[in-house]
Amino acid sequence: MAIHERWRRDPGVSRRTLLRGAAVAAGGVLLGGAAEVGTARGALAAGEPKVYTRADWGARKARSTASVVSAPDHIVIHHTATANSTDYSASHAAALSRAIQKYHMDTNGWDDIGQQLTIGRGGHIMEGRNRSLPAIRSGDHAVGAHTADHNTHTVGIENEGTYTSTTPTAALMESLVDTCVWLCAVYGLNPASAIVGHRDYNVTSCPGDKLYAMLPQLRSDVAARLRLLQVRLPLRDVPAAHRPTYPAVPVNERTVPFHHGPTVGELD
Ligand SMILES: [Zn+2]
Repeated sequence: MAIHERWRRDPGVSRRTLLRGAAVAAGGVLLGGAAEVGTARGALAAGEPKVYTRADWGARKARSTASVVSAPDHIVIHHTATANSTDYSASHAAALSRAIQKYHMDTNGWDDIGQQLTIGRGGHIMEGRNRSLPAIRSGDHAVGAHTADHNTHTVGIENEGTYTSTTPTAALMESLVDTCVWLCAVYGLNPASAIVGHRDYNVTSCPGDKLYAMLPQLRSDVAARLRLLQVRLPLRDVPAAHRPTYPAVPVNERTVPFHHGPTVGELD
């Protein structure tokens, strides 16, 4: 049965104004001339990693154009719940994106691939849902389908593999750090609170115990890079409804390829 995708359009303007106004420096870590967050200077300092576009990986045409709303306030880390491939090539990563898009459109009945970004085990970064890359570049958010009830305010990164009992490759983690540094700079997010796992919002084991246990190190690595680049770490006021709820992680969860927990909810 097809899942009808309905998205609330974020009022946007007032929230963005509030967030930008609240982008004050975190105590004492800044040097003179530090790049502002959520601005072209901050994004420029962080640098955009190489991201393969939808055209690069041969995406199918989406059934609808994604809604673009104001900046997200969290970055959600997922695993793809697919095999831990030893093919680290860009062509394999492209094939994975095509396979995920096919599953999301033909099995889930969605209009397009769900997540905004996908990272292969060779470290190749792929654009996801249509309009994602232009939206990020302009500090906006193309709404996807990856974390139930939180899709309007979270950007989702799917990391190739299943990390319940093994850790990702070093190449994948390096690209994940690069991607999070870029997103934090573009959106003015503090990695300490903004980077979360899928299980922090929904009842799921995603992104797997092993990758989930690496999130504190990921936050720390991203924060260190942002400090080095003199990108300010903001103090942001996030609405209570947007904060993680830390539901219980299911035991003996059935593993189905491509499926890693609730992705579309009543609030989406
Ligand atoms: Zn997930």
